[in-house]
Amino acid sequence: MPELPEVETVRRGLAPFFDNATICRVEQRRPDLRFPFGDDFVARLENRQVVSFSRRAKYLLLDLDSGDVLVMHLGMSGSFRWIETEDAEPTQTVEMYHAKGKHPQHDHVIFHVRPADRETIVKIIYNDPRRFGFMVLIPRSELATHPMFVDMGIEPLGNELDGAYLAKLFENRKTSLKAALLNQKFIAGLGNIYVCEALWRTGLSPFNSASTLAGKSGKPLKKADELSNHIREVLQEAIESGGSSLKDHRQADGSLGYFQHNFSVYDREGEACRTPKCSGVIERKVQNGRSTFFCPKCQK
Ligand SMILES: [Zn+2]
Repeated sequence: MPELPEVETVRRGLAPFFDNATICRVEQRRPDLRFPFGDDFVARLENRQVVSFSRRAKYLLLDLDSGDVLVMHLGMSGSFRWIETEDAEPTQTVEMYHAKGKHPQHDHVIFHVRPADRETIVKIIYNDPRRFGFMVLIPRSELATHPMFVDMGIEPLGNELDGAYLAKLFENRKTSLKAALLNQKFIAGLGNIYVCEALWRTGLSPFNSASTLAGKSGKPLKKADELSNHIREVLQEAIESGGSSLKDHRQADGSLGYFQHNFSVYDREGEACRTPKCSGVIERKVQNGRSTFFCPKCQK
């Protein structure tokens, strides 16, 4: 499943085509993905101009000049790729190059867009074999109160996240630190892998109670600041490694959404801890139904 850094990589990869583009034609090849597209899906997109292309948590948001926002989620197996054509107008999509494992029957939506700085059409193709992804149109004015967004926590890469915010947010919470960090109502888009990595970097046990980020007086401990910095850091590093994979994709078929990244603790059960001078061995425990990877020696 794509995590936040991968979604951000997709956004950066598609931004040169989507920013201020005109959506000339949309091929919708089935009635639904995880949710129905809605009867007027194509009509509400065609001949619209893109005002902005952004990300909130793991959602991609395409703001249109009509006031609609196309909300896109990659689900478990969704990916985008693009084809730059020589055509001035949209043409029928007949055949396209497919990378290994990308079958044309899973190309569910094709956007024919004219980027702001070009005369020619770029085809942006959404492929999703398992169809847990979705695309829905929501008026911008209803977005904040929409069930999908109304309870959403802060953006982990936004300015609000710092030690004081975390300590306050987790005040008196008996739940574990790991569970609190994964709670999307607190911080949105932060996934299991990056929570494990950030806790390991900070030397904090995932099993501590969330309230321990604050001292007795309620003031945030130094660890709270370190943790918020490490959350940012692990996400930024992954986005940067996604950025380098993006360059490779330009040469290939432009398929976006997945990349290899080396983790320090995640998926390293039984291997030596990488904390300098630590002789610990990484363990895996199931916590709230998810695998937690941690070093019992240096994470206290
Ligand atoms: Zn260790």
